Amino acid sequence: MQEVGVDPEKNDFLQPSDSEVQTWMAKAFDMAVEALENGEVPVGCLMVYNNEIIGKGRNEVNETKNATRHAEMVALDQVLDWCRLREKDCKEVCEQTVLYVTVEPCIMCAAALRLLRIPFVVYGCKNERFGGCGSVLDVSSDHLPHTGTSFKCIAGYRAEEAVEMLKTFYKQENPNAPKPKVRKDSINPQDGAAVIQVMRGPPDEETETIAHLS
Ligand SMILES: [Zn+2]
Repeated sequence: MQEVGVDPEKNDFLQPSDSEVQTWMAKAFDMAVEALENGEVPVGCLMVYNNEIIGKGRNEVNETKNATRHAEMVALDQVLDWCRLREKDCKEVCEQTVLYVTVEPCIMCAAALRLLRIPFVVYGCKNERFGGCGSVLDVSSDHLPHTGTSFKCIAGYRAEEAVEMLKTFYKQENPNAPKPKVRKDSINPQDGAAVIQVMRGPPDEETETIAHLS
């Protein structure tokens, strides 16, 4: 069994088709809507193995008062439960599982995905503040021999829509907060990354507001 230096090409057969991306991302967006309706940062995701959803999640940080309960972490826990219940080898299952998520996974989640050897991630908009798939760090593709395996990303699916949902969330989150200012110099209309650049009031408040992202 290969522990390190896995050939990244070996999982090419797992690359999802356009229609698969469309189908599964629609469900990930449904999860993001559910998050928004529950006062959470609107991020939703699914983990698909053999054409079956084996885990799904949406951000639960506010509800659980636990800053680590990002959509991906919730979904990964479900995947592990799914494997245990069916007495499947978690490692084998994860190596053939694709994650569909509405926002680029953050650094923490990208590291968790590596440790569980998820080979492919499809995501919507970028996460300019905390992104672990290129925006801040390249946890997804860096050579990190002691942190699982690298994974490939397909980025930008329904990105504008994902950004709009984040904007809606930040507009409604704190009606007493000063009007958010978007740094015009940081808007990239191509990937719609503006929201994550939303600035609010003093630095502490800003950090707190944005800390639940993804
Ligand atoms: Zn995360």
